[in-house]
Amino acid sequence: FSFADAPIRQEIKDLFTTKKFVKPSPIQAQCWPVLMSGSDIVGIAETGSGKTLAFSVPALEKLKKDTPKNNRKPRMLVLAPTRELAQQSAVVLEEFGEPIGLRSMVVFGGVPKFEQKKALTRGVEIIVATPGRLKDLCQEGACDLSQVSMLVLDEADRMLDMGFEMDVREIIGQTLPVGTRQTAMFSATWPAVIQKLASEFMEDPLKIYV
Ligand code: AMP
Repeated sequence: FSFADAPIRQEIKDLFTTKKFVKPSPIQAQCWPVLMSGSDIVGIAETGSGKTLAFSVPALEKLKKDTPKNNRKPRMLVLAPTRELAQQSAVVLEEFGEPIGLRSMVVFGGVPKFEQKKALTRGVEIIVATPGRLKDLCQEGACDLSQVSMLVLDEADRMLDMGFEMDVREIIGQTLPVGTRQTAMFSATWPAVIQKLASEFMEDPLKIYV
């Protein structure tokens, strides 16, 4: 399985060339066909495996096809446990999304809300966020998640460990329903609480181990 064989647009392939990536990482080779077929996925994988592009490449392809012209509302949401992880994923989505006209932003707590609200007003296709601040922005009416058709829960086990379960549930409830939305969940471990979350928020997810 090579980049050349993958049904991804040239702009994205060019970025791989620029970055001197020679082939998809194992998690990418497993995730791309599944996500591109429209299925939900659970990936039991650690950070450092190339997870970000495993979900981002199919997500960007989907967004590029589905997003209406003059879109303002977010279509993709990535939830992450920490500001650092959110920022890392946002950098990748920005780098790969910007050349194909998909705007992204990162949302996290501990900083003033003003800039985040301003960016949301301008309009974005992709939000990468930590749950607490995103919930606040939604409650204040600054963020409308009703058009989110691609949801990624990154490091899901850590998000629950950090006490974000209620926030995560509340946020997911505002996105499009299961069946309409595509969901990818990544977790380093697979305890009962994560299995429950997966069964509630996903439809027949394919499970992969890396
Ligand atoms: P991640 O697990 O998404 O944080 O990625 C870990 C590191 O692997 C990052 O520095 C990526 O830039 C890099 N990476 C992602 N995909 C590939 C690939 N196909 N070939 C080589 N390096 C990659």
